[in-house]
Amino acid sequence: MKYKVLLIEHDAPSLRVLKRVIGKANLDVISATTLSQAKAIFSNSSPETYLCAVVDYNLPDAPHGEAIDFAISYFMPVVVITSSTEADVRDNILSKAVVDYIPKKNAQIYEYLSRLLSRLEKNKNIGVLVIDSQRKRRNTMTALLKRHNFIIHELPSSDDLVNYLSQHSNIKLMIIDNELKNGPGVDAVAETRKHFHKDTLSIIGSSEFSNGGLSSSRVLGNFLKSGADDYLAKPYCHEEFFVRVIRNIEYLEQIELIRKTANADYLTGLPNRRHFFAQVGEFLKRESEHKTLALMDLDFFKSVNDTYGHDHGDLVLKEFSKLLVKHFNGYCISRFGGEEFCVFMPNTSLKQAMPILDNFRIAVSQKRFVKKGVSVSCTVSIGVTSKFKRKVESMLGFADENLYKAKDRGRDCTVGDE
Ligand code: GH3
Ligand code: MG
Ligand code: MG
Repeated sequence: MKYKVLLIEHDAPSLRVLKRVIGKANLDVISATTLSQAKAIFSNSSPETYLCAVVDYNLPDAPHGEAIDFAISYFMPVVVITSSTEADVRDNILSKAVVDYIPKKNAQIYEYLSRLLSRLEKNKNIGVLVIDSQRKRRNTMTALLKRHNFIIHELPSSDDLVNYLSQHSNIKLMIIDNELKNGPGVDAVAETRKHFHKDTLSIIGSSEFSNGGLSSSRVLGNFLKSGADDYLAKPYCHEEFFVRVIRNIEYLEQIELIRKTANADYLTGLPNRRHFFAQVGEFLKRESEHKTLALMDLDFFKSVNDTYGHDHGDLVLKEFSKLLVKHFNGYCISRFGGEEFCVFMPNTSLKQAMPILDNFRIAVSQKRFVKKGVSVSCTVSIGVTSKFKRKVESMLGFADENLYKAKDRGRDCTVGDE
């Protein structure tokens, strides 16, 4: 679903640039130049369809941030834009429950706004767990997190924490106080880390700066050594809080991106050979009676490139991959390299696999790969085996022999163990 952003801005040049920035973030802009116009637009629209509001602090009919209060009253996250540099304006903005404020100083702000908008959209799928024995402190923190669209989870103690995390896989960040009624937060972090790796869950430890107990630097050290990624001393300012939250979440996203890039084939996005071996290795650990492996190689693919150009060849590989995903959902598939692909089917006998694979072969031969009005057809040869000797490599050897036979028999056919 494409979200809307309510933009309230009077200044025409700013309005034009902001519309472009929001549009580029793939969001629908609904704009108004005054507060009363925004109210009129909003009176017949549902706030749920809006990702946030981007509001100028100073409007002709709302000179002191009244438009901010209007947007907040609809529970919308609000990003404020202001040309004022006065301290009392900043204080007035931050006293309201806004996501952030952006001074209209230079072109950098548009880049910042664009990052903020994409963050607000991603946050809708990210859970943050706040653990604190004091309800007031919990509420302060969750109210801040809500403004940024996070899915909020809260617990008054670390009892049953591992279980809670296992049941809520959207939780990517946990913020835990040290002085919990059922024991130190530091111990709960150490226990959590036995089950959840740093690549999948970020943890921020927290404690009161001066509580008469351990100094915050000792608590910080204990948290980090027990597996926390960061530390937040209470009381904290709104800006520091979000910098830490966002940085820890972005770290997880970068790890995820690196993992995906390392495991995927660049052209088709399919799992690459390395990832395929790791996946199949996991299946082979759980010994099953039947397993089948198929090697596929496109026929006369060199002539597709030679006749229609390399770009059209690339399109065939990408479309072929999509077809492979569609037909072999739930199985391990991979682009092995060039125009060669592999499918591993656990818990499947040769007899069960052959018709599935042959149906796929027929679907390929019937498909037309069209680019710029030029239609190309292509066929695939498939070698299949269920023979297995200790390692998956043995299956690849048998499948390759059968693939060779398929090529030899005239291509566009499926050959299994005989
Ligand atoms: P056969 O039926 O015997 O398999 O013939 P073939 O032409 O498919 O086999 P050959 O091994 O001679 O050629 C494979 C071709 O695949 C050559 C190479 O340029 C092409 N190819 C490999 N990777 C890519 C790619 O990423 N994109 C494109 N467009 N072509 C590729
Ligand atoms: Mg080949
Ligand atoms: Mg080939």
